[in-house]
Amino acid sequence: MSSIINNSMKPPTTVRIFDRNDYYSVHGSDATTAAKEVFSSLSHIKKMGIEPNRQDYLVLSKGNFEILIRKLLLVRRYRVEIYVGEGSKNEWLLKYKGSPGCLSQLEEIVGEGLSSSNDNGPCLISVNIKTDPVTKGRLLGVACITANDYQISVAEFTDDDLLTQLETITVQLAPSECIVPLTENDDYKTLKKVMERANITVTKLKKVDFSTEGLVQDLNRLLKFKDAQMQDANAFPETRMGAAMVSLAAAIRYTSLINDSTNFGRFRLNTIKAECYLHLDAAALSALNVLPELGDNTHAPARSLYGLLDRCRTQHGKRLLAQWLRQPLRDINLINERLDIVELLVENSQLRLQLHEDHLRRIPDLQALARKLTRKKANLHGCYRIYQALQRLPNLLQCLADANSPTVHSTLSEPISELNDDLEKFQQMIEATVDMEAVDRGDFLVKPSFDDQLQVLHEQLEKYQISAEKELNKAARDLGLDAKKTIKLENNPQNGFCFRVTLKEEQSLRGNKKYTIIDAVKGGVRFKTNALDSITEDYVQAKVNYEKEQDKVVAEIIGIAAGYSECLFCLSHILSRLDVLVSFAVAASTAPNAYTRPEVTEALDEFVLRDVRHPCLEVQEGVSFIPNDVFFKRDSCLMHIVTGANMGGKSTWMRSCGIVALLAHAGCLVPASSARVPRLRALCARVGAADREEKGQSTFMLEMIESAAILRTATPDSLVLVDELGRGTSTYEGCGIAWAIAEKLATESKCFCLFATHYHELTRLPSLHPNIIVNSHAEASVVDQQLLLLHKIVPGPATHSLGLHVAKLADLPDSIIEYAEAKQAQLETNLFEVESAVKTLDTTEGQKMILDFLQKCKQLQETATSDQIIMSEIRKMKDNLLKCKNKYVESLLAA
Ligand code: ATP
Repeated sequence: MSSIINNSMKPPTTVRIFDRNDYYSVHGSDATTAAKEVFSSLSHIKKMGIEPNRQDYLVLSKGNFEILIRKLLLVRRYRVEIYVGEGSKNEWLLKYKGSPGCLSQLEEIVGEGLSSSNDNGPCLISVNIKTDPVTKGRLLGVACITANDYQISVAEFTDDDLLTQLETITVQLAPSECIVPLTENDDYKTLKKVMERANITVTKLKKVDFSTEGLVQDLNRLLKFKDAQMQDANAFPETRMGAAMVSLAAAIRYTSLINDSTNFGRFRLNTIKAECYLHLDAAALSALNVLPELGDNTHAPARSLYGLLDRCRTQHGKRLLAQWLRQPLRDINLINERLDIVELLVENSQLRLQLHEDHLRRIPDLQALARKLTRKKANLHGCYRIYQALQRLPNLLQCLADANSPTVHSTLSEPISELNDDLEKFQQMIEATVDMEAVDRGDFLVKPSFDDQLQVLHEQLEKYQISAEKELNKAARDLGLDAKKTIKLENNPQNGFCFRVTLKEEQSLRGNKKYTIIDAVKGGVRFKTNALDSITEDYVQAKVNYEKEQDKVVAEIIGIAAGYSECLFCLSHILSRLDVLVSFAVAASTAPNAYTRPEVTEALDEFVLRDVRHPCLEVQEGVSFIPNDVFFKRDSCLMHIVTGANMGGKSTWMRSCGIVALLAHAGCLVPASSARVPRLRALCARVGAADREEKGQSTFMLEMIESAAILRTATPDSLVLVDELGRGTSTYEGCGIAWAIAEKLATESKCFCLFATHYHELTRLPSLHPNIIVNSHAEASVVDQQLLLLHKIVPGPATHSLGLHVAKLADLPDSIIEYAEAKQAQLETNLFEVESAVKTLDTTEGQKMILDFLQKCKQLQETATSDQIIMSEIRKMKDNLLKCKNKYVESLLAA
């Protein structure tokens, strides 16, 4: 027992809590963790035991225990174990546990927290990595379980050594936990880093947990088969992905899905289609502030794109919005479908307001209610809320029909209308079973007339009520009071039936043995008679019987209602689509400056944005945003080297461009006056390396990881944003690395790229690659001894003496400024050498090739029989050499 309490043999990310009946306790280092989460201070921690075994402990009330569980699982993404004392020996047994990806045992506690979070509830990813027997590559088997919407998705693919594809998938699916087999090798170390960057808890499991034994039987139980389909999981093509099935087996075991019969026949199995969505890596997601930080429930518009766009009225809409931002589309037709509706909603303000202010705001979390129905955890109140939502559908459909749009009709009205028809019987059932009069009083009861037995019991209750009223009249006569006016009948759970008179009338009771006073409060004096007591006794018994019978009927109703949960899931999904589209429209039409519909093109020749703004910055109070243009053209300007003073607006410009690209692919209007955006495959960013040290990765290391990933991912249909690369190392190295990466991106990846840097040397790149790279800078000038940041991005390199200008303005002594100027000149000369060193990369390689070429010529001379043969062989070798496209060789041969 003491070893459990001592928390030995457990990682700090697992917190043990001890249930002591009417309170909970946490010990040792867990006490510190818990105190910080619940009280934001350590002052509640106490000490127990005697030295040297003295240790910290913390006592938690039930309320604080629940707060702790929610914070640990949903915000910190830790695991929790709850122990309960059992047996005379007071042994502690592990009774419940939960982890970020598996909340089933603690669902009742964390439920509330879940509905307010912007992710899709617990989502678990399971990964195993092995060597592909055929290609010898790194084969990944991935399985993902989202219990809330009964989804199982799997994938199997070979990945590079940085696990780039896995990172894309984790960004798209946003799991909260990743399970892996207990294996220590470089691949799993890389995996851990990928997960850490995305804030995903990694849990290592024994290798036997990854055995596929019994998997098909489990799937046969869990999966939903079509009516005519054989109940055989092997019929799903996904089951042929061997590596993915290994991961899936572990995920099913870990989540204990099979232990809950309400999961049977519910799950859908599908393949993860990462290529359908714009590739976003964790760095891009954070560089563009797409989602709020974990645990930030304020969702301030200025803090994240999600916060700005979230005008959703429904909880499922909020969750879908986060998903759309993580999964921007790549299908132009689907993008345009969304844009058609958003544009219509922006133009038709009446429609927008009706949907936003009236219809959607009254829709409850249908997804959560449907899930409760499936798990038979719903109650009559939940059923009534669904009923209320369904009651609104005809009006909502009318409103959509008035829009007179074929896209709205086919994507929203038609499916909603079909589901409305399917759910008609559900509505009829609720009307037939729920006592609507009681609902008006806030009670959710079954109509007595619905069930014969219930009716009999109800009549009994009424009989007792009438008897009590007769007693009231009798007492009123006896005391000379006015029944229902000066003397009233009450019935409450504590006292049962009782009378109440005002304090003024109290003297009429004094000395009267017939009446027993219960209490005297401000509102009057409550009292009873023996007869009333006996009525109460009968009434209470009848009420117990009534409630028992009602519970049976409610269970029946819930059982029938559960049959509609599939329709309700579909309805919640369509309504959440509508909610997000309305939300996009509301955000666009309430922005300080107009948004525009982007034109998403199949062609990759141009990427042009006019008057682009940063949507989160322009809504900040006191900011007067300066719009800028972004111009890319494939044959003249593919990369901008962006220079300029600190705080000049470089990052903001680049982020604005990235955000517009992302929003365009998500089907949202964009903050610009016009936008022509090519259909992109990937959006990569390496912007700002701050705040990562705390995760144990050095800035430079992280930069290099992100840069390497970008170099692999970037293709001509990618947008790459690089800001201040090379800051984490020495100036020479940093400049060299920045130079090499910029050149490679421009000439080999040929992606659209904005490359901001403080290495002024990089402004020489355009002269080396005139039709690919251009210079742009954030304009600034010195006016009246004041540095004026204009936040305007204009062509050409920045004048690089601005830093010293700032120093002069700061009244730094002249001698220091002069010294700095001399030092700057000297460093620049050195850096020029770095530039040459980088250039010699091509040269060294070229020289090797020429040497090889000459050796082959020499051999040829010895073996060839005629001059003609020699010449034709040399020509062939020269052509082959030119195909290598080495600049050094090209320049030599051209000369
Ligand atoms: P550094 O080189 O130090 O990273 P930077 O050139 O990247 O700086 P930003 O971080 O983009 O500069 O901008 C600094 C601040 O200037 C922003 O926080 C914002 O307040 C303001 N700013 C940037 N661009 C604009 C703009 N176009 N209009 C108005 N204000 C802007």
